[in-house]
Amino acid sequence: MKKLIVAIDGYSSCGKSTIAKALAKYAGYTYVDTGAMYRAIGLYTLRHGLTDEAAIISALPGIHVGFVMADGVQHVTLNGEDVEQFIRTLEVGNCASRVSAIKEVRAYLVAQQQKMGEAKGIVMDGRDIGTVVFPNAELKLFLTATPEVRAQRRFDELVEKGLKPDYQAVLADVNDRDYRDTHRAESPLRQAEDAIVVDNSTLTREQQMEVIIRLFDEKCK
Ligand code: C5P
Repeated sequence: MKKLIVAIDGYSSCGKSTIAKALAKYAGYTYVDTGAMYRAIGLYTLRHGLTDEAAIISALPGIHVGFVMADGVQHVTLNGEDVEQFIRTLEVGNCASRVSAIKEVRAYLVAQQQKMGEAKGIVMDGRDIGTVVFPNAELKLFLTATPEVRAQRRFDELVEKGLKPDYQAVLADVNDRDYRDTHRAESPLRQAEDAIVVDNSTLTREQQMEVIIRLFDEKCK
């Protein structure tokens, strides 16, 4: 069967990674979470106190981001260290959003992502996958949900991790992140013209998977 590239883009906390992972499993494809790559660089800047754009750019050759499998789950690595447990906080998310606005950081990670997709058979999620990383992807999905629904999901995730988030702060963060992601000069989040929009505000995960698997099977024919 022919192998495809599936590009999944959308706002933060709209369930991209859950859907992308499930689709990769269904298809027997490799899953790549590009947000985790930006988060790893964000973590690096936090750990080294780098806030200045020029300092971040000059540190790039010493920042190596990769993936390892740990108990069947994909974990991101930073210079060989498994940093998965450190990258999902709001603080690192904000650093990721900031570093992701830097042209050189994007070029650095996009080149790596394009290499990962050379053999196809990949499901990649992010903000610019269908527009910049793989403009020729065979299937492009653009996921969306209301900010309130996304904030509630992020809130529930943080509670599950044993944290005590404040809902209004999480909602404000979702709105800030949307603004930054859609207004930055470099590869702002936007829907590719040929992307299929899936608004999952009122869909269960199963309903959403049904829609997406149908679209995927169609493309494989
Ligand atoms: O998807 P996630 O929330 O983990 O991404 C963290 C941040 O990385 C996002 O807020 C976004 O600014 C940035 N990002 C990006 N391009 C991607 C993936 C993530 O700019 N392809």
